[in-house]
Amino acid sequence: MAAEQRLVLEQLFGRDNLYNLPSQSSYRPSRSQPLNLFDNRICKSFLVGTCPHDLFSGTKEDMGRCKRIHLEKYKIQYESEKRNYEKRLEASGGKLSEDDKRIQRMVEEFEYDYMQDLEYHINEVAHKIVVAEDNLRHTPEEQQKIDKITKDLDNMDIRIGLVTQEVDLLTKKGQLVKALIESNKLNELLEQRNKFSKSVREITDKIGQANQQKLEVCSVCGAYLSRLDSDRRLADHFTGKIHLGYVTMRSELSVLRKKRAAITKK
Ligand SMILES: [Zn+2]
Ligand SMILES: [Zn+2]
Repeated sequence: MAAEQRLVLEQLFGRDNLYNLPSQSSYRPSRSQPLNLFDNRICKSFLVGTCPHDLFSGTKEDMGRCKRIHLEKYKIQYESEKRNYEKRLEASGGKLSEDDKRIQRMVEEFEYDYMQDLEYHINEVAHKIVVAEDNLRHTPEEQQKIDKITKDLDNMDIRIGLVTQEVDLLTKKGQLVKALIESNKLNELLEQRNKFSKSVREITDKIGQANQQKLEVCSVCGAYLSRLDSDRRLADHFTGKIHLGYVTMRSELSVLRKKRAAITKK
């Protein structure tokens, strides 16, 4: 398969080195000589569907401009060749002329290229999702730290309870000097507890922020979502450009995979 060979070459030499591409800004398509659609400078993802580079422009996941050519006239040419071929295929009951066989190969090859492009980006986001989910989980060390400070705080509260009882008891018994000493101790303890609980809050804030905000990872785009967010904010996420970009890529990929599976079965 030509596309597969090309992919191997691309991996060996790098896409740009392989095709020795002029940069997007300096590239001027020649008007007199339209390119063959197979030309490596033409973006196949753009011809077949939506180039991932176009999905996230202006967002924080902006990939920059695609290094290959996105020209509407080539897309129109590809689509009309494909449409006409499909019509003839239907009319002829599956018999193909040499020219139609060429178009069939072209469509299969370009769709395969697009599928590979999508797969690359979907794999990337899958990795991002795994990392993000990992970040939400407490490490055992963090959990130990939380357990320890929680226990320390409990012990402090028990001591404070005991000293408070002691002060009450001594006061009732009329042992006021002892009661005063104990109540000084109590004040000290309360002050300590105050300081301690402040630092506890800082630590748990740091460690448990994710938990406190009830964060989860969007299984489509890998963004952090808070279950405490308002419906409005969640709706904003699900209709946002990045999220929808991944929705598009995922659905295109699943269509192409099914098509591909049908071709390889033949
Ligand atoms: Zn492109
Ligand atoms: Zn999302």
